[in-house]
Amino acid sequence: MSGGSWLCPTELDRNRVVDANDRVRTIRRVGSGAVGAALIISAPWIGWWTLILFALSALNFAVVDRRIGKSPHPERVSAIAIVVTMLIIGAGVALSGGPRSPVLPWMVLPAGMVAARFRPRVVIAALVLTILITLVASVGVHPQWAIDDPVSLIAALALLAGVVSIVWALQAAELHHRDEAILDPLTGLLNRHALVPRFIEITHQARLTGQPVCLVLCDVDCFKEVNDEHGHDRGDAALRDVAYELRKRLRSFELVYRLGGEEFLIVLPGIELSAAKATAERLRAAIEQARPTGIPITISLGVSAARGAQVDYDTLFKAADEALYEAKHMGRNRVIAAPELLSTEAQAPPEKTSLALAPQLVG
Ligand code: GH3
Ligand code: MG
Ligand code: MG
Repeated sequence: MSGGSWLCPTELDRNRVVDANDRVRTIRRVGSGAVGAALIISAPWIGWWTLILFALSALNFAVVDRRIGKSPHPERVSAIAIVVTMLIIGAGVALSGGPRSPVLPWMVLPAGMVAARFRPRVVIAALVLTILITLVASVGVHPQWAIDDPVSLIAALALLAGVVSIVWALQAAELHHRDEAILDPLTGLLNRHALVPRFIEITHQARLTGQPVCLVLCDVDCFKEVNDEHGHDRGDAALRDVAYELRKRLRSFELVYRLGGEEFLIVLPGIELSAAKATAERLRAAIEQARPTGIPITISLGVSAARGAQVDYDTLFKAADEALYEAKHMGRNRVIAAPELLSTEAQAPPEKTSLALAPQLVG
């Protein structure tokens, strides 16, 4: 996947768009069925042409469902589909009486979809676009009707603002709860809870593709002394700086977790042991140079690797932990790598591993 965009600045935003599309698919079909039924029942009064617009809209979403999982920019696929829906409903408004159109309230549907998927700036842009399309399709087509009888148009715009605000607020509350569950409040890094599902995914992938997975376990050296000498608050600030330096020097698919205290875990999927060692060495040198909050802080790192069917969290973690212990024992501020895990012992099938993984990571 490529980097952030205006629509989705981070990978998490992008995942959310794909996730939202998957989760609302069934509900969207129920909603579309209701709209289709309403159009069929109303056709003798409005006209059968409305069903053509409805078919176009259904086709539009069928294309999204096929393309969203494959595109490197799923957010664009989703946004284009929503704008197309706005235009289709706008055309429906224009052709069915403009300011008097019974279809006017439906303009809320695409704007609501944006509020459920995207960040505030995109929601505001979508709201402005929806208002513009609504005005062009109503006032622009029948200006005199809008002056004579503006009530339906005013009600539709108020409904639009109301529904978008409610969906937006609900979405923001849900995101806040999700973030709180998986983010470490001190450093902003992912925590152990986020590691569980990610590592299950990585284990499955590695077993399917035979690719390597490396762990880098990283512990701040003599951190107790830092607290004792400079105070706990400065220690907190130093930990935040260490976390920032680590995150800054990793690529987007290289994930760093705060396991607790002054211990961090970096998961490197699809990377050979030699490359993982080089990454660990880069991180070590970066922290030594950074002097977090002006304190000469160093870290020790233990690296482990396995590939394909050998990938198992417990075994990899134990090997990285032993390597880290050795790094500490040898004088700290260094990287020690365990040999790649090649043994076939204790290899559970992925489903079993996923169950075994959760308690140890979370507990
Ligand atoms: P070593 O080089 O062997 O790792 O020595 P150490 O002093 O870092 O190791 P030890 O495990 O004895 O101490 C870790 C210290 O980290 C103890 C604890 O007070 C401190 N610590 C853990 N979590 C936090 C935190 O969130 N903020 C601060 N300021 N200190 C923390
Ligand atoms: Mg330590
Ligand atoms: Mg420690």
